[in-house]
Amino acid sequence: MLIVMEMNADAKRIGAVVEAVERRGLKAHPIPGSQRTAIGITGNIGTVEPAMFQDLPGVLEVIRVSHPYKLVSREFHQESSVFDVAGVRIGGPELVVMAGPCSVESYEQTLGIALKVKASGAHMLRGGAFKPRSSPYSFQGLGRQGLEILARVRQETGMPVITEALDIDVLDEVAEFTDIVQIGARNMQNFTLLKRAGRCGRPVLLKRGMSATITELLLAAEYILDAGNAEVILCERGIRTFADHTRNTLDVAAFPAVKRISHLPIIADPSHAAGYRNKVLPLSLAALAAGADGLLVEVHERPDEALSDGGQSLLPTDFEELMSELRALAPVLDRGLPTLAVT
Ligand code: PEP
Ligand code: MN
Repeated sequence: MLIVMEMNADAKRIGAVVEAVERRGLKAHPIPGSQRTAIGITGNIGTVEPAMFQDLPGVLEVIRVSHPYKLVSREFHQESSVFDVAGVRIGGPELVVMAGPCSVESYEQTLGIALKVKASGAHMLRGGAFKPRSSPYSFQGLGRQGLEILARVRQETGMPVITEALDIDVLDEVAEFTDIVQIGARNMQNFTLLKRAGRCGRPVLLKRGMSATITELLLAAEYILDAGNAEVILCERGIRTFADHTRNTLDVAAFPAVKRISHLPIIADPSHAAGYRNKVLPLSLAALAAGADGLLVEVHERPDEALSDGGQSLLPTDFEELMSELRALAPVLDRGLPTLAVT
């Protein structure tokens, strides 16, 4: 349910409606807009009827929201959300590029890649310290040591960092070290983790599960918003299909589909979608042309020796080429590609 206030409704009237909502055991989410304030209602206790609020002073109309997701929807929040993450704007007209190794392997490896991707124009550094691996015998990540390496490299390069929180046990530790907490595809419906991520105090990048629908992705994001964290960035990283020429299939239609329904930013991970280095560049261009707000790309200086995902990791020279293609594409899409505002 969405309560739309009259244009001249003042803070007192808005407050009175919020109180009326909360008296019924529901949650009120005031959403200030450029024209008027709307108040979203969520909660699963009792029935809600428009008549309960229709006649309160300052109320223009009460709208039933037809979709299962609410806080993430454009019905609740018409304007696209734009987040400022350590000076990097995500979701606005500017494209954002996050790049780095799949896994943090050592300080030297991470710093080396960070310096290269930064010189090519990346805005944020990615790198996993806790890795979700299909096999228990594969490299599982450096754990806390990996977080400390990321923090050091962040300090030395000025690049904000994104890294994955694999479970609730490490979430707070990850949140302490990183600018964006990544929730991986395999955890998209780990509802306990989602709720905790809603209280972690950091923006969250939520990856689409490999067999999740757009509705399921948006409902997963809804958990995080409902727990109090409005800063969620969605990520399309490819879904499972019968295709075997790629690791996953990048669902290019996900970008316009999500943009229509939701105000949240959505970026593309062409690396996990492609699975092969030679397809990362074309998939990046396709994703951005379809409306993605940015990219999350894996880069490695010696992909053959990488401890994870070497085959899909770009060499720094490939990444340089990708960035120069993006510089040509961005103005055609009416988007900017800012340079990172750090030394
Ligand atoms: C990753 O970003 O390295 C990763 C494991 O991604 P995903 O969860 O999309 O597989
Ligand atoms: Mn990876």
